Amino acid sequence: MDADVIIVGAGLAGLRCAHQLELSGRRCLLLESSDAVGGRVKSRTVDDAIIDEGFQLANPAYPEIRAIALGDDLDWRRFAPVLRYVGSTPTELIDPRYAPLRALRSLRSCGLSGRDLVGLLRVARSAATPSRSILADDDMPAREGFRRCGVSEGSLDRLLTPFLSGVVLDDSVDVPWGYVRFLLKSFLKDRPATTPDGLGQLPRVLAARLASDIRLSTLVTDVQPTEVRTSQGVFRAPAVVVATDADSARRFVPTLPLVAWRSQTTWWWRTPRVEDGAELRLPRLGGPLTSVLDLASVAPERCPRHSLLAAAANGTHGEEMTEGVRETVARLYDLDSRDLDLVEVTRVEHALPVITSVRPRASRWGDIFLAGDYLTTPSTQGALRSGYRAARAVLAATGTTSRR
Ligand SMILES: Cc1cc2nc3c(=O)[nH]c(=O)nc-3n(C[C@H](O)[C@H](O)[C@H](O)COP(=O)(O)OP(=O)(O)OC[C@H]3O[C@@H](n4cnc5c(N)ncnc54)[C@H](O)[C@@H]3O)c2cc1C
Repeated sequence: MDADVIIVGAGLAGLRCAHQLELSGRRCLLLESSDAVGGRVKSRTVDDAIIDEGFQLANPAYPEIRAIALGDDLDWRRFAPVLRYVGSTPTELIDPRYAPLRALRSLRSCGLSGRDLVGLLRVARSAATPSRSILADDDMPAREGFRRCGVSEGSLDRLLTPFLSGVVLDDSVDVPWGYVRFLLKSFLKDRPATTPDGLGQLPRVLAARLASDIRLSTLVTDVQPTEVRTSQGVFRAPAVVVATDADSARRFVPTLPLVAWRSQTTWWWRTPRVEDGAELRLPRLGGPLTSVLDLASVAPERCPRHSLLAAAANGTHGEEMTEGVRETVARLYDLDSRDLDLVEVTRVEHALPVITSVRPRASRWGDIFLAGDYLTTPSTQGALRSGYRAARAVLAATGTTSRR
């Protein structure tokens, strides 16, 4: 046998699974097709800028990040809890715990009625309930959940949908209410953050904690309960965990349900330093952009002499959109469009799997164990959690429980 457990895929789910198994003394072998760990969480350097190829923001309050104290090895740089809507009527929504007076003043600019305010408080209370009760929720659509809390359709469309659509990568926020409550819960606990090296640092830190063998550039071509065929030969172990994305998992376990995907395009711009770059700008100017943020405002190491603006849109967009995006970004920050230097455009076709329920799916399919965000929620938290659950399933099947 080559290991106690073979894990196919060294994204967050696979790495977390190995971490948990190691706590119970299991020796793992991780087989990863690409030349780096991290899967959809990747950062790379383009000239003097560090860009994220996938996921750009993490919430240090995600329970799994806390559970394994991943933040202890990361230099979190938090953004301001301020949403600035830039359109014909500029509006802002601010966490009152961050800037109470400004938050009070901003309420007037938002045009929220007393009923809306009560509705938003109900939403916050509902998001503050324990994760277990959120995950046991029925899968009503998010829109219905807001409506039941008393938030008016107008406020939903004007304030909440523009923000949430960029988080769930769906313009109509057609996701389960439990998923939205789960996201809001983490926003209530902490602020979204990045790191000076980009979010690719997250899987690198997790991988550095492992004693397990990680084989990169090893494409797995066939998976059986105790045997895995790869481009580098055959490996055997008493248990195999498939911790790939949903599509790759279906190649090995064809009876798994088909998963649809949400995609994202991000235009990265180098510009002269902008003001208040740590506040998320939500363009209401037409065009595809959902949000723009200056990563260098909180992590200047990522672009030492400039601002580094990440302008994101749902879906995949071609070259023809770039000049329109340039104009929008220039308007958002009051810049001359000639001052915007395009660093890169990243397009991720398979960014987030579409889920219809927040109730986790089984970590075992016959004799093969499964991990991956498509089984839980499409997020860092979901991926890490799925890895933990898969490890628990392996340990239960082999007669051992794990330490948390
Ligand atoms: C553009 C974008 C924006 C995002 N925004 C957010 C966000 O704001 N907040 C948030 O929480 N999450 C966000 N996410 C989601 C988050 O990044 C993912 O949910 C999470 O990284 C998924 O991890 P995973 O381990 O389940 O899967 P993956 O990261 O897909 O890892 C699977 C691994 O398996 C490997 N693999 C596949 N097939 C094989 C094979 N045959 N042989 C060997 N190896 C194989 C792959 O190379 C990969 O490394 C975003 C993702 C993207 C792409």
